[in-house]
Amino acid sequence: MPPKVVFVTGGVLSSVGKGITTASLALLLAARGYNVEAVKIDPYINVDAGTMNPYAHGEVFVTEDGGETDLDIGHYERFLHRNLTRRHNITTGQIYLSVIERERRGEYLGQTVQVIPHITDEIKRRILDLARERGLDIVIVEIGGTVGDIEGLPFLEAARQMRLELGPSDTFFIHVALAPTLSTTGEQKTKPVQHSVQELRRIGIQPDAIVVRSQRPLEPEARRKIALYATLPISAVFNSYDVDSIYKVPFLLEKQGLPRLVEERLGLEPRKPDLSGWQGFVERLERASREATIAMVGKYTKLRDSYISIVEALKHAGAALGVKPRLRWVEATDLEQGSLTVEEALEGVDAAIILPGFGRRGVEGKIEAIRYLRENRVPMLGICFGLQLAVVEYARNVLGLKGAHTSEVDPKTPHPVVDLLPEQRQVEELGGTMRLGAHPVRIVEGTTLHSLYGGRRLAYERHRHRYEVNPKYVDALREAGLVVSAWSERGLVEAIELPRSEHPFYLATQFHPEFKSRPLAPAPVFKGIIAAAAGVLAEALTA
Ligand code: GLN
Repeated sequence: MPPKVVFVTGGVLSSVGKGITTASLALLLAARGYNVEAVKIDPYINVDAGTMNPYAHGEVFVTEDGGETDLDIGHYERFLHRNLTRRHNITTGQIYLSVIERERRGEYLGQTVQVIPHITDEIKRRILDLARERGLDIVIVEIGGTVGDIEGLPFLEAARQMRLELGPSDTFFIHVALAPTLSTTGEQKTKPVQHSVQELRRIGIQPDAIVVRSQRPLEPEARRKIALYATLPISAVFNSYDVDSIYKVPFLLEKQGLPRLVEERLGLEPRKPDLSGWQGFVERLERASREATIAMVGKYTKLRDSYISIVEALKHAGAALGVKPRLRWVEATDLEQGSLTVEEALEGVDAAIILPGFGRRGVEGKIEAIRYLRENRVPMLGICFGLQLAVVEYARNVLGLKGAHTSEVDPKTPHPVVDLLPEQRQVEELGGTMRLGAHPVRIVEGTTLHSLYGGRRLAYERHRHRYEVNPKYVDALREAGLVVSAWSERGLVEAIELPRSEHPFYLATQFHPEFKSRPLAPAPVFKGIIAAAAGVLAEALTA
């Protein structure tokens, strides 16, 4: 059976919730036993998200195979409970790169290489090859951006052609658009949705269903109007109104019958979904009542999406432990510049996370925060850059190595306790050249990390870093009391901690545990920090 293709387009605004709609539909179809995955198309010219500032685009999500992808891939993995690959994120850059490379090899045999058919063919080929190779029944393709964007046109054109080539019983188009509410009158306005459907039709695509995003449940009159202007039955207009958790969106769409309509139109026998696991998770999330305040120390704190996998991982762990994490965002640059003191920022928090990052800005602020957390015995988790800066802090303040630093920030430091690996020195290109993706992590017996992993000695965790704890300093750090709780295959530091006799919870990982945390399988490290914040670490470790 050839794979069936569901397209998800967006209208009115970006960030309207296409990613969550796509992830939710994927979950609902997977819960019916279909082999389904989602693909994200990003119509920008970057080859991948790796070179983009999280401040503008949100987190760079890392896949098992080392892809640096859009954060929506993270939503898909969390909702589907399945690892995806770098190929699940298609960008304009990738498409043009491969077409241009093919042209240079002379493979177009004298043809004029054009957007139609060469670029559109490459888009279609990538989607269908992936779906076939993964043996999918259904592939959901989310087209990033908003209908009408110049950059998105080749992708929408490819989608239009696929409808023609595969036929209506193998393709389905969902348009997600916003119906804003006027604050003055409280009225739901449908005109922007109407216009975006018109824009879609102008390109040659008639949607099969509309998902209307709104603050409040959609009024029947608004629904009727949208259906009329979109030339759809009212039953094909769905509403995803604001709910307090993204994890509840699948239930909204299930109740309104979106997956049933998709099955019907794709010529599939209706099946009953098994949503019991998801239901259980959402109930645990709801019931979690014990509050714990977690400081999030980083430098992209103004755009919360910069750390979205970490935020979600905290929720997963919280649900498992009956804890509701309350996040207190701490901008490291403010600490560095002195407009905020560490005492003001961290007083009264139950735990803190030193977030991943790059570059100089805010670094001294983070190091100050780490010192405070270590000295005041406040539970702390450092992730990636967070581990590296914890090593810097320890080297400076416990080992007494003045001026110790990471050579990323201070290339002339007398003590490069965090440094580039020899092979990284030769790297000239920045894109895709870090240590990326899943690598084995060898956990040291008897450590807190070892207990958190339930006695496992080996884990595969995802990475995204260029710098490493400098092996030359490891012995001195250990002699000064720092415990290395995990090593890489080749003997580089993967995790550090302090003994629990000295500190209630002081753990930092070179890997990013957040990328593998799932609602139904919270990451051990996050369970650790949440348990420590709630004062139930001892119980959690013996459970
Ligand atoms: N900037 C550091 C490195 O490149 C840490 C990266 C990170 O936190 N993801 O090694």
